[in-house]
Amino acid sequence: MVIDVSKIQSAKNGTFSFTFSFQPNATVVLNTPYQVAGEAEVNGSLTLEADAVILKSTMRVPMHYVCDRCGGAFEENLFIETNEKIVQGESEDFYTYEGSSISLIPILENEIMLHLPTHVLCRPDCKGLCKICGANLNETTCQCAQTQVGENNPFAALKGKIK
Ligand SMILES: [Zn+2]
Ligand SMILES: [Zn+2]
Repeated sequence: MVIDVSKIQSAKNGTFSFTFSFQPNATVVLNTPYQVAGEAEVNGSLTLEADAVILKSTMRVPMHYVCDRCGGAFEENLFIETNEKIVQGESEDFYTYEGSSISLIPILENEIMLHLPTHVLCRPDCKGLCKICGANLNETTCQCAQTQVGENNPFAALKGKIK
């Protein structure tokens, strides 16, 4: 999605609105165990200011995650709110565009990269895996926790005393 600055200039109140879908490049999740599960949907606006174009958008990205606690795969939408300046030429601090057109997709892909979670759970109360037998405790119960309290366990003396 490439928007010509003249379109923003001629838009009502200097604000050009847009809605579109795109397939984010696979590299946005490069350093994570996650994947983008489908097309991202974005709607937002570009507003012309004296020295910049302001991008305001809301994006929904269907994600394929791996739970940090149990290793289970699950899908969930990632919602990203963006409110950023885009300036012409070069900048260390802001997104940029060259000439008279703004390429939105590289900017939006960068926003996805910046907003990827570093820690995800398949559900808030995920029980994880048993450290002894590896069973997924969301799906099954194992006997390890009970048999673990043996004679060598420092808490063995308490066994039977806790009701
Ligand atoms: Zn989990
Ligand atoms: Zn177990």
